[in-house]
Amino acid sequence: MSTDYLTAKSAVLFEEAQKYIPGGVNSPVRACQAVGASPRFVKKGQGARLYDEDGREYLDLVGSWGPLIFGHCPPSVIKAITEAAKNGTTFGAPTEAETRLAALISENVPSMEMVRLVSSGTEAAMSAIRLARGATSRDKIVKFEGCYHGHADSLLVAAGSGVVTQSIPGSLGVPKALAELTITCPYNDLEALEQRFKLAGPEIAAVIVEPVAGNMGLVLPKDGFLQGLAELCQKYGALFICDEVITGFRLGLGGAQELYQIKPDLTVLGKIIGGGLPLAAFGGKKAYMELLAPLGGVYQAGTLSGNPLAVAAGIAAIERLQSEEPYGRINHMSARWAEGLRTLAKDKGLPVTVNQLGSMSTIFFTPDPVYDLATAKKSDLKLYSAWFRAMLELGVWLPPSQFESLFISAGILFSEVDDLLEAAEKALESL
Ligand SMILES: *Cc1c(COP(=O)(O)O)cnc(C)c1O
Repeated sequence: MSTDYLTAKSAVLFEEAQKYIPGGVNSPVRACQAVGASPRFVKKGQGARLYDEDGREYLDLVGSWGPLIFGHCPPSVIKAITEAAKNGTTFGAPTEAETRLAALISENVPSMEMVRLVSSGTEAAMSAIRLARGATSRDKIVKFEGCYHGHADSLLVAAGSGVVTQSIPGSLGVPKALAELTITCPYNDLEALEQRFKLAGPEIAAVIVEPVAGNMGLVLPKDGFLQGLAELCQKYGALFICDEVITGFRLGLGGAQELYQIKPDLTVLGKIIGGGLPLAAFGGKKAYMELLAPLGGVYQAGTLSGNPLAVAAGIAAIERLQSEEPYGRINHMSARWAEGLRTLAKDKGLPVTVNQLGSMSTIFFTPDPVYDLATAKKSDLKLYSAWFRAMLELGVWLPPSQFESLFISAGILFSEVDDLLEAAEKALESL
């Protein structure tokens, strides 16, 4: 921690926060513990930039962990929220706009024949699992090591994101009996998955996967992995659940499932579809979705589900994505950033592996390819921490953990990618 931090307003605010909020934060990774830093309190954001309470400015490569594909304060989204608020903030009764958002999602992600709106990715993944269990009358699920699907009990086993960041195997408070129903498997390992099915096939309700993993750092699926997974699910009568909370509307309007030509039974969305407000969704084949109450026996509900402000923000965000199609541009910026990093690291003789796909990327401080949690963990975490802190001082806001993806937003300018690479050169030099 630099000495100026001790006199900074952020430090005072953090002190105060810790009196009332455990660890001073409402989500653990924000505490920046893993990178040996203290959190800087944010005052506002605009476009690709963030401003902290001490008046410092940053280029934001976190984007609130995924939702902000346009950067901060996109005018059409802010306008939609403001307009919606004038009519009331919640009704607990259906509105026309909910159907509009569900239809927009379904049109862009055709495997989601029907959609239910909820308030967080955690809630959506938890509900999808319950639905799969209800549909199959089976109890077990398979998840991949290092994938994160929110913090519902069944899904915290061998999870990514903050769980792996804090080096804890799962969580206290998850009943053993429930954890035993979650079978884990290394990412990208079809043989291991087949073996799990051979052992427990008739008991497996579903396999849930991040089609492109973003919560152990960015890890891409190997050729044929997702197709093979889908085939195994079909063979053994398990549902294939695609968790596209990050990738949905990020890797394209149709998400990773369009990119990789897969057709999951159920899909989980969040982040981008809420336009920066708390909104998520799950959906899939009509035959499964109609098992939900009030039509069927799988219960799921929410006081603020389909909240009018969040729905308005979501519609505005998706409509803007459809009209602007920013993907070509942000993917190009992201590729420039990743390629630039590789070159800089090579020039400095620093062995790194940069994974990149679309607007997502991660620099791992290891020379070896990273294709699952074990290979991600080979990364030198001390180097990542030093990199994070050096970049922060240079005005670049990176994810405060090796095991997260960074996101290039449409708010970024071509010249700002140059600025980023200039900062990266200095930061790499200082390591
Ligand atoms: C963020 C995330 C979640 C959880 O969403 P929350 O809104 O934080 O509950 C689930 N799955 C994936 C892949 C995520 O990245």
